[in-house]
Amino acid sequence: MKEDADQGSPMPPPQRRRLRGIANPTSTFLLVSSILAPSSSAAFAGQQTAMPRPRTAIGSSPRRSPRLAALSRDEAATKTDAEWRQALSPEAYDVLRRDGTEPPNSSYLNDIKAGTDEGAFTCAGCSSPLFLASSKFESGTGWPSFFAPLDGDAIDLSVDFKLILPRTEVRCKNCGGHLGHVFDDGPRPTGKRYCLNGVALDFVRDGTDLDLMKDTMDRAQRAASIEEAGGVVVTQPLAAVLPGAAVDGILSGLFLVTFAHKVTAGDLRGFGAAGPVAVLEFFPLAMGAFLAFSAARKLASALR
Ligand SMILES: [Zn+2]
Repeated sequence: MKEDADQGSPMPPPQRRRLRGIANPTSTFLLVSSILAPSSSAAFAGQQTAMPRPRTAIGSSPRRSPRLAALSRDEAATKTDAEWRQALSPEAYDVLRRDGTEPPNSSYLNDIKAGTDEGAFTCAGCSSPLFLASSKFESGTGWPSFFAPLDGDAIDLSVDFKLILPRTEVRCKNCGGHLGHVFDDGPRPTGKRYCLNGVALDFVRDGTDLDLMKDTMDRAQRAASIEEAGGVVVTQPLAAVLPGAAVDGILSGLFLVTFAHKVTAGDLRGFGAAGPVAVLEFFPLAMGAFLAFSAARKLASALR
């Protein structure tokens, strides 16, 4: 189990719209007719998916409440739950303030591509700049994904045990709003995948908010000069990496003890044996070393 973002196959938008609208009479009729006559409903579904998907203009999602004015950290900290509920759209409130997860492929921000679009992704709760379009990549998960935040002041990381196995949660450092999670299977240069809910973000295109862009570019340049080519690396919380490192360490120990036992018992024929036998004999040593390296790497990501 890796995360919610990788579970299940993402549903194409037209089907999702039909499921959401299941309460209205037309959809109820379609549901009943699909049960009674699968072939005719399949033909209808074909028509539905063949219909051109209406394109939402970037920056004007119909589900989004008007962009909030920038909130200072103090203003955000003193905002009550009722005020947040009033200020945000129901979807944004559910994600930002209730740690919810939006359906995959539901965000118009998935259409924004690094290299084609330039600008900054800001927090939908407080307008704090968080990620640059240039750090976005297509992860195939259905959620907007980035390999690095704007800088170390953009986000906070904490541990989340909602799926039993620990995950590293990403929050807006300014207002504390929940944005998503970060995983270790991202692309270079950081190897991180910040998997975020699009409804928790806004996209401000270059040239539309000059003050914001200047501030954002200054911060990005400072961060780059600190981290050089490695990009911004935010240290993982120790509690998030400890269980994984412990499992790797224990398995590594078991493999190494097995190998050591074989050596002391004089069972090892080593390279004197035929090819495949030699490889098999050294397999526990290789696995032990690999897992020890993996455990050390996980610990290092928290202690950096
Ligand atoms: Zn925020």
